Amino acid sequence: MSDRFFLDWPFFDDSHRELADRLEIWCEANLEGAHGDDVDAECRALVRRLGDGGWLRYCVPAAYGGFHDALDVRSLALIRETLARHSGLADFAFAMQGLGSGAISLFGSDAQKRSYLPTVAKGEKIAAFALTEPSSGSDVASLETEAAEAEGGYIVTGAKTYISNGGIADFYVLFARTGEAPGARGVSAFIVDAGAPGLDDSERIRVIAPHPLATLRFDDMRLPASALLGERGRGFAQAMATLDVFRTTVGAAALGFARRALDEATARALARKSGGGTLADNAIVQSMLAEMVLDVDASALLVYRAAWVRDVQGKRNSREAALAKLHATDSAQSVIDKAVQIFGGLGVTHGVPVESLYREIRALRIYEGASEVQKVVIARNHLAEFRS
Ligand SMILES: Cc1cc2nc3c(=O)[nH]c(=O)nc-3n(C[C@H](O)[C@H](O)[C@H](O)COP(=O)(O)OP(=O)(O)OC[C@H]3O[C@@H](n4cnc5c(N)ncnc54)[C@H](O)[C@@H]3O)c2cc1C
Repeated sequence: MSDRFFLDWPFFDDSHRELADRLEIWCEANLEGAHGDDVDAECRALVRRLGDGGWLRYCVPAAYGGFHDALDVRSLALIRETLARHSGLADFAFAMQGLGSGAISLFGSDAQKRSYLPTVAKGEKIAAFALTEPSSGSDVASLETEAAEAEGGYIVTGAKTYISNGGIADFYVLFARTGEAPGARGVSAFIVDAGAPGLDDSERIRVIAPHPLATLRFDDMRLPASALLGERGRGFAQAMATLDVFRTTVGAAALGFARRALDEATARALARKSGGGTLADNAIVQSMLAEMVLDVDASALLVYRAAWVRDVQGKRNSREAALAKLHATDSAQSVIDKAVQIFGGLGVTHGVPVESLYREIRALRIYEGASEVQKVVIARNHLAEFRS
């Protein structure tokens, strides 16, 4: 039984507690069973199911079919934590609807919002966020994909890689260089419908925890002027603002994986006979469990503090989000590793939850800003406070 006491913390109001209770019941009824081999079909089905359940309404603003007037990070984080505890793929499907449409919610015109967001909220259209390139990952400002102005629109050339939902998405929010200035200031955002002539999203990437993931290639892909998202030349800032909302929720997903690992390890330690008692009677196992509890609680405090700073204090939360993502993802890796250890040989056996958690957690320390990049953000904020 997962710890639910954190829901009494002052970061939440009653609507969050009610959301967590409803979602828990929904997950138990809708997310049973291990994943098969066809992650594309499973992901499409999960997006539909999440849409039918009303959960994707938390990914868009109320005026366009959503739940809250503006994106509520505490709700997003609670949903991700809960989904991740039940199913990594369900968390992925939910997260990408939010991240993929986030820049439209934050910066889209009314027409763009009306055209895309209600379908995202219902699970009718699948969204994706296309920023990373073969030669530009952490160093986002060096991206090279070019959108050249031509005939009342744009012609796009270049490539994006490691794009979640690549190949199954109905639309991509694409960041490309429009040349107003070098580096971060010369980038714009566009909405690209899948099937656009000149877009090839067929090259798939297989990773340790299977998700739909692809390289996108743009070969003189034509976009109408109406595809431009927000102000020209502001794409870098738009990408960072979108990531600011969702980075905290990556920490929440890691927290969900860690809580599941702790639950599994505790049940196993209590059930496994050892030395005339059970593993749970052993002081060294108890020490491991205590460290896992500490890591989970500390992550939860950091994740929901970061969400609360943004939702309630209305402040930019780059520092708090970086602390939350760094600690929650790094410590979840350690919690899950201990869970595998407590399971012994069974822990590395396919089909056992801690084995898939061990694979699921790894990428979270890399995407949406690697752990080392979060340290740069934290140190920069810390030093700026001392220097001012
Ligand atoms: C499963 C998965 C899903 C993804 N989904 C998406 C998506 O939907 N959309 C998208 O646009 N991208 C996506 N990505 C890409 C992801 O955002 C990048 O992998 C990430 O930004 C790191 O870039 P890179 O892989 O090029 O690594 P690099 O930038 O080459 O960095 C490699 C390593 O170098 C170190 N490093 C890099 N920069 C610094 C620094 N400034 N200071 C200190 N150390 C540093 C870190 O240890 C880092 O892990 C996804 C990646 C994965 C693995």
